[in-house]
Amino acid sequence: MSDDVLSVIPTDPYWQPDQAAADRTAAMVAELTPGAPGGVDVEINVEWHDKPTFVDCGENLERIGCPRCGASINTDWWIELMDAHYEDGFASLAVQVPCCCAKSSLDALEYDWPCGFARFEIAIWNPARPWLSDEELISLGTTLGHPLRQIRAHI
Ligand SMILES: [Zn+2]
Repeated sequence: MSDDVLSVIPTDPYWQPDQAAADRTAAMVAELTPGAPGGVDVEINVEWHDKPTFVDCGENLERIGCPRCGASINTDWWIELMDAHYEDGFASLAVQVPCCCAKSSLDALEYDWPCGFARFEIAIWNPARPWLSDEELISLGTTLGHPLRQIRAHI
């Protein structure tokens, strides 16, 4: 059985909330994802990471683009880089892209569907609902204390 995971992360990959703000935001997320009657239970996991951690979209990842020249980034190059960083725990997200040699950040590459890096994440397993609306995302971000983005994975 596959899972659908909707994750909410701060737009800044290094930013972390305080515990009270995280609790309030997780409670709001629970209200927004009551689950479908008779469906799989919605599970909400609040996660904290010491270093920026890759929040990926699983099978939904179709393309990675260069933020400078728009070229497609070679996936093999990217996977090798991610493996290398996985060992050092993403101490730095700095990267030089192979297409136009621009200096960029792993977080700034154009992932389609979106992916991101975060030290704080609220993951909603089997949310039984579409993407959060802009209004919902802004309202959650106001509660948390930082603007948020969302990532949807199929795994
Ligand atoms: Zn480029």
